[in-house]
Amino acid sequence: MLDAQQQQLEHPVGTANNRKSIFITGAASGMGRESARLFRQKGWFVGAYDVNAEGLRALEAELGADNCVVRRLDVTDKADYERAIAEFGACTGGKMDILYNNAGIGVGGYFDELPFEDILRVVRVNFIGVLNGIHSAIGLLKATPGSLCFTTSSSSATYGMPGIAVYSATKHAVKGLTEALSIEFRRYGVRAADVLPGLIDTAILPPGTAERAPKEGMFRLIPPIEVAKVVWEAYHSDQLHWYVPSEIAELDKAAGNTPEMVREQISSTMTFAAEVASEKK
Ligand code: NAD
Repeated sequence: MLDAQQQQLEHPVGTANNRKSIFITGAASGMGRESARLFRQKGWFVGAYDVNAEGLRALEAELGADNCVVRRLDVTDKADYERAIAEFGACTGGKMDILYNNAGIGVGGYFDELPFEDILRVVRVNFIGVLNGIHSAIGLLKATPGSLCFTTSSSSATYGMPGIAVYSATKHAVKGLTEALSIEFRRYGVRAADVLPGLIDTAILPPGTAERAPKEGMFRLIPPIEVAKVVWEAYHSDQLHWYVPSEIAELDKAAGNTPEMVREQISSTMTFAAEVASEKK
């Protein structure tokens, strides 16, 4: 069965040859691509998945076809996700050391002014896509001692962010899912963790964001390699939530302890997201 599935690949299959392996979604760009590069440098076998086939081809050329398997995958398609996981398993001898659920999209705008289909698209990619990934990959994770189910959440999972309300809600959902699964999956020895990045310099940001970003503070612009380094650290740790930069942890604590105070602070000082929202109108 796996042979037939392998034949459907768009590219020749590399094999892990007993190397550790990571399956990364949203790997054609930003923090997914930086993670693919970093893990390759560390000697890992990389599975790279994205809807951006051109970006994947460039990544494959950089990583070397023997060190990776790249494949177009829309994370919202559960049946195709299962095929991609089976193909990956055929390359790795049925193992997966890290599942990195990272693909995501952002849609800015006031909730009531957005087309409802745009709202659902964010939910499908950012949350249903993560459910699809974990549900499809759990068999390989269970078969791999010390494996990690890692997901990109967001600093917008600390307190609901105006201007990106549904995006923020999907990232809260990912954070809650991670917490629950980090306990459920203990019965298999599989860890679960996530990262809550602040403002990372990637293609997901609306044009002009870099110029307007604060020069200092927790929402300064940070290169995506910093998130990739955290994925590496997370594999070697039992920490549940990771923050990039680390100051985001303070916001998370404050939001938990005094949500009304954080609400007022965000309302009065964080006009940034609302500006993005109004520009999208
Ligand atoms: P990015 O746009 O550079 O990368 C996202 C990748 O996901 C793209 O290559 C895109 O093609 C891919 N993708 C989109 N929809 C897909 C789908 N249906 N199936 C498969 N792939 C799909 O942006 P990024 O910042 O590197 O985003 C990575 C993750 O980080 C996302 O989950 C995003 O929500 C999250 N995040 C980003 C920031 C930031 O400031 N950049 C902050 C917090 C969280």
